[in-house]
Amino acid sequence: MNLKDFFNQANKEHWAIGHFNVSNLELLKAVVEAAKEGGSPVMIGTSEGEREWLGLKSAVGLVKAYKEDWPNIFLNADHTKSAEVAFDAVDAGYDSIHFDGSTLSLKENIDETRRAVRYAKSKNKDISVEGELGYLKGDSQLTNKKIAITPDDYTKPEEALKFVNETGVDRLAIVIGNIHGINSDEPELDFEILEAIRKIVPKHVSLVLHAGSGIPDVDIKKAISLGISNVHISTELRVLFRDGLEKQLKDNPKEYALYRLEKEVVGSIKELIREKMRLFGCIGKVH
Ligand SMILES: [Zn+2]
Repeated sequence: MNLKDFFNQANKEHWAIGHFNVSNLELLKAVVEAAKEGGSPVMIGTSEGEREWLGLKSAVGLVKAYKEDWPNIFLNADHTKSAEVAFDAVDAGYDSIHFDGSTLSLKENIDETRRAVRYAKSKNKDISVEGELGYLKGDSQLTNKKIAITPDDYTKPEEALKFVNETGVDRLAIVIGNIHGINSDEPELDFEILEAIRKIVPKHVSLVLHAGSGIPDVDIKKAISLGISNVHISTELRVLFRDGLEKQLKDNPKEYALYRLEKEVVGSIKELIREKMRLFGCIGKVH
């Protein structure tokens, strides 16, 4: 099954595919092992910064190697801000592109997203492309900052319909109160807007919830029941990796074989990912 098949299944059965960001081999290992052990499909995300660090070709090569063992992993070029950078990820062999034109005007966002979709589909008919509409604030960090978000930042249902019709995206990232990162306030999701968007946007387009790290489990569950079929998690993995590594370094001052220290850290990240997969309902969905 390719990514689109899994999304069709998820949309029909009301569960969500997890999307986890990675910037190194340790995080990648944790995601792949958790997916395999859970019998789950999974998306691996690399933001522009993350993929620059990993190297586009290395990221694709690593995922390709892991696919031999568990084929149900899909590499996404997360938050790609220009069409040209999206083209590079398509050419490198990414399974999925997230074109993020959310800071552009609606017209420019539609034009650039359409350009990314056309290029991606001309190179790979199985590729899945995501667009984004609404103003998604914050960045994937742990902060005490208060981030103000107003209904004006939210995705507007009528614009969402126009956007998906004119761009041909497979997935749409929406803003319904979600904020990147873990911030001092728990974001409050506007479920009425989610319902309105789900009602108006054609069924074959999957709805994506970014910034899943700061949202309470019960709200994630409700969002999935109302039509979200893809949830992004990044900040929680970053925090666990950093904190876990710091503890290992402190507890083992004479250990220089880093992989021994990382083993336990990867184990705890894997556990978190398994928990998220249970929450998303995607465990055991690969038959
Ligand atoms: Zn995001």
